[in-house]
Amino acid sequence: MKHHQYEVVIVGGGGAGLMAALYASKGASTAVISKLYPTRSHTGAAQGGVGAALGNAEEDNAEWHTYDTVKGSDYLGDQDSIEFMCKAAPEVVYELEHMGLPFSRNEDGTIAQRPFGGHTNNNTGKPVTRACYAADRTGHMILQTLYQQCIKNKVNFYDEYHVVDLLMSNGAAAGVVALELATGELHVFHAKAVIFATGGHGRVWEITSNAYAYTGDGVAITLRRGIPAEDMEFFQFHPTGIYRMGILITEGVRGEGGVLLNGDGERFMERYAPTVKDLASRDVVSRAMYLEMKAGRGINGKRYLYLDVTPDLVNHYATLDGRTRPDGRPYVTSAEEILGKLPDIIDFCHTYLGVDPVTQPMPVQPTAHYAMGGIPTNMRTEVVIDAKNKVLPGVYAAGEVACVSVHGANRLGTNSLLDLVVFGREAGVRAAEFAQGADFQPLPENPADFVRAQFDALRNGSGSEKAADIAKEMKEIMFDHVGVFRVEEGMQQAVEKIRELQERFKNVRVADEGKLYNTELLNIWELSNLLDLAEVTAVSALARKESRGAHARDDYPDRDDRKWLKHTLAWLEDGKVKLGYKPVVKTKYEPKKRVY
Ligand SMILES: Cc1cc2nc3c(=O)[nH]c(=O)nc-3n(C[C@H](O)[C@H](O)[C@H](O)COP(=O)(O)OP(=O)(O)OC[C@H]3O[C@@H](n4cnc5c(N)ncnc54)[C@H](O)[C@@H]3O)c2cc1C
Repeated sequence: MKHHQYEVVIVGGGGAGLMAALYASKGASTAVISKLYPTRSHTGAAQGGVGAALGNAEEDNAEWHTYDTVKGSDYLGDQDSIEFMCKAAPEVVYELEHMGLPFSRNEDGTIAQRPFGGHTNNNTGKPVTRACYAADRTGHMILQTLYQQCIKNKVNFYDEYHVVDLLMSNGAAAGVVALELATGELHVFHAKAVIFATGGHGRVWEITSNAYAYTGDGVAITLRRGIPAEDMEFFQFHPTGIYRMGILITEGVRGEGGVLLNGDGERFMERYAPTVKDLASRDVVSRAMYLEMKAGRGINGKRYLYLDVTPDLVNHYATLDGRTRPDGRPYVTSAEEILGKLPDIIDFCHTYLGVDPVTQPMPVQPTAHYAMGGIPTNMRTEVVIDAKNKVLPGVYAAGEVACVSVHGANRLGTNSLLDLVVFGREAGVRAAEFAQGADFQPLPENPADFVRAQFDALRNGSGSEKAADIAKEMKEIMFDHVGVFRVEEGMQQAVEKIRELQERFKNVRVADEGKLYNTELLNIWELSNLLDLAEVTAVSALARKESRGAHARDDYPDRDDRKWLKHTLAWLEDGKVKLGYKPVVKTKYEPKKRVY
C-alpha cells in the first residue's frame, strides 16, 4: 500500500474539483484524485450555458437572478447561499473569460447570452437573456479552461484513481483511500482537508442524461461514514432527453425559440404556463409532458413528444409571442443561425436518430438529469452533519455532489455550472485556509481495512446473482415509481424492491480475479453505491407528503409549507435509512404560490 501526503486532497476533477484545486493550490499543497481523466468529467457534457446577470443584451440584475432561483427552488433553497451565488456570478464569469474561456460573442464584443427556463425579468415576468454560452459546448470550454489553468499552476493529478473511503480521526478529516485502476493497488492519501467534488448519480434511473460514471460515489462514501445525505428525494427530470436514450437536448434549443408539440401538433405548454410557455421551469415542463402522454397525446399515442426548432415554426411562434431581438427588431431566425448556435445538438440528432433538426422535429421524453440533494454543506462549503448544522472539520463538498442548498427542490438551467465555479472556488479557498491553521490528524490504524472488507465481500459472494440484473431492476423501478410523478403505493413498492435487491446484491461475485484494470470490481462497487442512493432517495420521497419542485405526488398534489418547508436529512445506519429534518434558511423572500 502506498502513502501520500498533501494538505488538501480534492476528490473529483470536474468543474467544481478543478476550480477548487486552482484556489487551494495557491495556499496549500494540493492533489486532485479523479476516477476519470479530468477532461472526461461530466461537466464537459454541459451544453446550454452558465447563468450570470451581466445584462449585456437587456436589463438584468443579481437580485432578479436571486429571486428567480428562490422561486425556482420552490422555496426549499437556502436564501443566504442563493444570494451569495447570484451576486458572485458576474465576477466569476468574467474571471473565466480572463482565463481564456472562448465565450460566444455579441456584435459589440461582449459575452453573448440566451434565455433559459425560469430566468425572468422580474418586472414583466418574461424570459430574460441571462445564460452566458460558448455555442452548445459551454461545459466543455469551462473544463478545458480550468484544466489548463491547473496544469499551469502545477496542481498534482492522480488520474484513474477511484476514491473508495474517507478517513477521519478525532472527529475531523484525515484523508482518503483510493484504488489505482491500472495496478489494483490501494493508496492512502493523508490530508488535512478533503473536498468532495464527485458529481451526481443519475445512473440510479433507467433513462438518464448522465454519464456512466455518475454513480454517486461521494454521497455513498460519506453515508457509510455516518454523514447524512440531504434532500435526496429531489432529483430533476429534464424535459428533453432523446427518446429511449435519454441523451440531453439542451434547453438552449427552446431558448433559441424551439417549441414542444404533442401528437395533435399542439403547443401544449401554452395551457400549462401561459406566460413563459416552453421556458417554464424543468419540473413544470416535465410534468406537463407526462400528463400529455398519459392523456394519450404522445406522438402516435406513444410515450414521446416533439421538440421542434425548424426555422419556419420558430418564426411563426416568435411572431405570435411578439418576441424581439435585444435591439428591438422582430425575432426571425434562419437555418444558418440554428446551425451556428446548436452544432453539437444537430450532430447528436444526425448520429443517434437520423433526424435533421433544421428540417424535422426531434422525438423527446423526460430524462433523469440532476441531483439537487447530496452531501449537506453550509454556504462556506463545510460539510455539516446534523440538524443544527454542526461542522465536520476539514471535510468540504462542492458541485453536484453537494447540497448547499442553492437549488432546493428544483434547479434552474445554467445554475449548476455557476454553482461549480462559485462554490468550487469557495471550497478551495476555505480548505487552504483550514490547512494553514491545522495539523495533520493521525491516520487511523490499518486505514484500508474498511474498504478491504467491502471488496472481499464482492470477491467472495456466492455468485448466484448477476450485477447487471440487479442494476436493470433498480433502474426500472426507480424510473417508474420514483420518477416524474409519484404515489404512495409505487414508492412503497420501490422501497421494498430496493431492499430485496440489496439482499440479492450480497450474492454477486466479481468474476475477474485480476488486479490490473479490474473495471468489473469497480463497476460492481459503484452499483453498491447506486443501491444505497436509490434506497435513501425512495425512503426520503415516501416520507415527504406534499408536492414541491421535482417531487410531485398525485396523492398530495399541493405544496405544504406549514409541515414541509424543511430539508430532509437521511442517515444510513446498520443498513437502515433514518430520517431527520432541518429548517430552510430564509432571508427576505416569503414563500408564494408559483405562478407560471
Ligand atoms: C448532459 C448534461 C448537460 C448539462 N448542461 C448544463 C448546462 O448547460 N448548464 C448547467 O448549469 N448545468 C448543466 N448540467 C449540469 C452540470 O453540468 C453538472 O451538474 C456539473 O457539470 C457537475 O460538475 P461537478 O464538478 O460537480 O462533477 P463532474 O464534472 O461530473 O466531475 C466529477 C468528478 O468526480 C470524479 N469522481 C467521481 N467519483 C469518484 C471517485 N470515487 N474517485 C475519484 N474520482 C471520482 C470524476 O472522475 C470526475 O472528475 C448538465 C448536465 C448534463 C449531464
